[in-house]
Amino acid sequence: MRQDDCIFCKIAAGEIPSNTLYEDDLFRVILDLNPASKGHALVIPKEHYANLFELDEQVAGKALQVAKKVGTKMVDVLKADGLNLLQNNGELAGQTVFHFHMHIIPRYKNAPNADMLRYTPLKMNAEELAELKDMITK
Ligand code: AMP
Ligand code: ZN
Repeated sequence: MRQDDCIFCKIAAGEIPSNTLYEDDLFRVILDLNPASKGHALVIPKEHYANLFELDEQVAGKALQVAKKVGTKMVDVLKADGLNLLQNNGELAGQTVFHFHMHIIPRYKNAPNADMLRYTPLKMNAEELAELKDMITK
């Protein structure tokens, strides 16, 4: 299924031009227009799923395979020093395009945005962690 007003449906279908790094029956991988680093790319399924919760399980598994393939090549060719995979769900989590996608972000020594994914850890004791574990596994 696709959604008519969705920009990533149109990009994935090739109706809007993109810098495509990889394409198969299920995915198109494109360069991000506003990159956080050199080579920042997006793995976009051709079917419309708004987010991870809607994503088909088989497609979810294949998305990681595609990210591995493209990410590995990218690190090699661009001589990156590291790589992040990032996937946002919901506005609060930073999602701005509501068609599932996975970011592939190569990382470089001494590049801008060095702290883009750093956070201040919460202080949680063993009891609080165990309580959370119980809630999630119940
Ligand atoms: P997110 O914030 O996780 O929803 O990520 C959306 C990403 O899509 C952002 O990094 C945008 O820069 C990128 N983006 C939005 N529109 C386009 C487009 N037309 N072509 C390429 N990347 C895009
Ligand atoms: Zn879509």
